[in-house]
Amino acid sequence: MADGRFAPSPTGALHLGNLRTALLAWLFARSDGSRFLLRVEDLDPSASRREHERAHQHDLAALGLDWDGPVLRQSERFALYHEAIDVLVEAGRTYHCYCTRREIAEAASAPHDHLPEGAYPGTCRTLARAQRAAREAEGRRPALRLRAGGVTVGLVDRLCGPYEGYVDDFVIRRNDGAPAYNLAVVVDDAAQRIGEVVRGDDLLATTPRQLFLAGVLDLPAPGYAHVPLVLGPDGQRLAKRHGAVTLAERVAHGDTPDAVRAALAVGLGLAEPGEEPSPATLLERFDPDALPRTPWVLPEALAA
Ligand code: GLU
Repeated sequence: MADGRFAPSPTGALHLGNLRTALLAWLFARSDGSRFLLRVEDLDPSASRREHERAHQHDLAALGLDWDGPVLRQSERFALYHEAIDVLVEAGRTYHCYCTRREIAEAASAPHDHLPEGAYPGTCRTLARAQRAAREAEGRRPALRLRAGGVTVGLVDRLCGPYEGYVDDFVIRRNDGAPAYNLAVVVDDAAQRIGEVVRGDDLLATTPRQLFLAGVLDLPAPGYAHVPLVLGPDGQRLAKRHGAVTLAERVAHGDTPDAVRAALAVGLGLAEPGEEPSPATLLERFDPDALPRTPWVLPEALAA
């Protein structure tokens, strides 16, 4: 048994790529007899997040994807995240970082002997008290970074195979005081006892950080299956400009939710064009080893 989850950020409507990831996460969990949990990743307050959250749940239900137990909301769990941050601070694993976004971009693009592109080069790692005070006097508010010590962490992804990545000193508390995504995800996946994380492969590159953090916090590490992204008919990453790519838009075009699920299933090799298998039938057919490992290019008919 490996409990699974779907953890969308309520920043907009789910598009067919997100729905395909949700379908896969559900298939991975349910085909194994495991629980499937829903988590709302709303670390960023926004007036419309409840509306998006409702729409996400409506879409999943319309596609026939059910979930267990109450939905978890990150906005209600800050105390837990701050507890984990305190543990790291007390263990001497953190430091304040005063760098602006621009300074980080500049520093990260400068050539460093051994750092991969985009990695934080540790500018604030050894600031003296006076240097910190000077930055605070300028009105800068610090983010908190984890001292990772330049380790490389590897994993064997269920779909992508062996992968390893350098772990930089990543942010665990943002400079607005909110917990950072990587921290919240690690705390929540452990708290929800997630056995296997199924999500888009745009997050594969940050997974070594999450595994490292789970280790430092002495939390169990889940397995991972990173799902290839969906591309628009033009070969670019799927986005709004590709046309009618949300469930509501497809329905407005005359598709039923069953037809949309069927189209996703065809793209996963789980259905023939023209048939509309039920979720239960998809579960019977599901074989993780037979899943396509390359991005799915949306057929023209599904974006128009
Ligand atoms: N909330 C993230 C997203 O919507 C997903 C994070 C995860 O699955 O770990 O992209």
